Amino acid sequence: MHLFNTGLFREQAYVNGEWISAAGGESIEVTNPADGQVIGQVPMLGEPETRDAIDAAARAFVSWRALLPHERGVLLETWYRLLLSHREDLARIMTLEQGKPLADSRNEIDYASGFIKWFAEEGRRMNGETIASHLPDRRLFVYREPIGVTACITPWNFPSAMMTRKASAALAAGCTMVARPAIETPFSALALAELSNRAGIPPGVFSVVTGSGRKIGAELCTNPQVRALSFTGSTEVGRVLLRQSADSVKKMSMELGGHAPFIGYPDVGVERLVEGAITAKFQTCGQDCLAANRIYIHRDIYDDFLEKFSRKTGSMKIGNGLTEDVDLGPLMNEEAVHKAEQHIEDALSKGARLMTGGNRSKKGGLFFEPTVLADIGPDMAIYREETFGPVAGVTPFDDNDDIAAMANDSEYGLASYIYSDNLSRVHRLSSALEYGMVAVNCVKMTGPPAPFGGVKQSGLGREGSTHGLDEYSELKYVCIQV
Ligand code: NAP
Repeated sequence: MHLFNTGLFREQAYVNGEWISAAGGESIEVTNPADGQVIGQVPMLGEPETRDAIDAAARAFVSWRALLPHERGVLLETWYRLLLSHREDLARIMTLEQGKPLADSRNEIDYASGFIKWFAEEGRRMNGETIASHLPDRRLFVYREPIGVTACITPWNFPSAMMTRKASAALAAGCTMVARPAIETPFSALALAELSNRAGIPPGVFSVVTGSGRKIGAELCTNPQVRALSFTGSTEVGRVLLRQSADSVKKMSMELGGHAPFIGYPDVGVERLVEGAITAKFQTCGQDCLAANRIYIHRDIYDDFLEKFSRKTGSMKIGNGLTEDVDLGPLMNEEAVHKAEQHIEDALSKGARLMTGGNRSKKGGLFFEPTVLADIGPDMAIYREETFGPVAGVTPFDDNDDIAAMANDSEYGLASYIYSDNLSRVHRLSSALEYGMVAVNCVKMTGPPAPFGGVKQSGLGREGSTHGLDEYSELKYVCIQV
């Protein structure tokens, strides 16, 4: 591996400021999805090591919460600057373990570091309030206090950004955190831990445990010392974590699955629609909770759109993300390839038309051709489920269709896209859409100042923005007789 600073590539877990292995020496190999080669290994930890990390986080909480917000902010700011100065190495580590093109990994490091910078500043504004009293001789105050020890479980599609979006909010609020990255992509999180250490963030404040999702997850959910748990991943696993945490009643923040509708009207022109739909569908090879999974195009331009969208999709370059001009990397694992194949097979058997792609790439391994399917209908699996792969399903709609009802016909409610220059239509539609986020005439909408999150089965709570601290703080009401 070619890194400027090889010390960022750590093959041990980071607990209480120390690099540790599993007690019995068990480890798990991590492979590069582009070629199946082993990149390295990480400890296979379970409940005992997770308990140790939680105990250390509880001890560290006492002095971490006592720091002034400004003092925590300075440490977070140092962490942020270290991410920026090691941007290239962090991006290479991410591409090696995740497969996404290097340019996307660099963007993710910028996105990830932006959250640390944001919360370094936002922590200073975790203000309470004074309340006009309802009693004659009382003064009423509300303080916002850190909730305590927190935990997070993050997925493999955004290995750095999902970690910093949670950890920097928790740390800025005065909480400590035990983090469990996906087993496919632990090295990005471990590099973040190494940089947190170099930034001077004290032992126990931010620990990273690697290993079995089930065992570590069970301990994080059931341990009563953990007062808040933040998860990003599938709705299915989110439900398991909610159930497991019920007995210890903790604050749960859930960033779950998405099934974004993309609604395109003729007034913006076919070129803008094609450009938007390509980005909304194929970023991170479609393995994105914000990916457009149902593309609704007005019938007046349906054929024209399909022709241009399919041509552009078919010209996308597939390859190893370390090669600079690649558009699409590999999928994460064989199940992801299988799901793409299943969705295509199911749609074709029910009358969809294959416009381009449809198969595993000739490059072999986990590479899959970017695919466009036309005439997708509600009876097809791709219309109902997240594909999490580079398969675009397109559906026509007419003026007299209730497009909001069509778009809302899903258990998910994370992101949605509207393309139209008609102002009143945009306002009407954005309030009718049952989604936590609506992007109008653009795809890129997330970032540190924006509240990220979904409704319905897409989750609970918001990350980023001024609201991001709410997940890690509690209100304390104080009533003083004067
Ligand atoms: P996943 O299967 O839910 O896994 C997410 C994480 O949970 C992994 O670290 C996994 O560990 C862990 N996990 C799995 N089973 C567990 C259990 N029983 N107890 C504790 N932890 C467990 O999701 P994924 O396939 O990695 O990621 C894709 C999903 O994430 C999609 O549904 C996508 O929409 C969603 N996502 C949502 C957002 C958002 O902000 N809303 C952002 C990105 C992704 P292992 O590695 O051991 O399996």
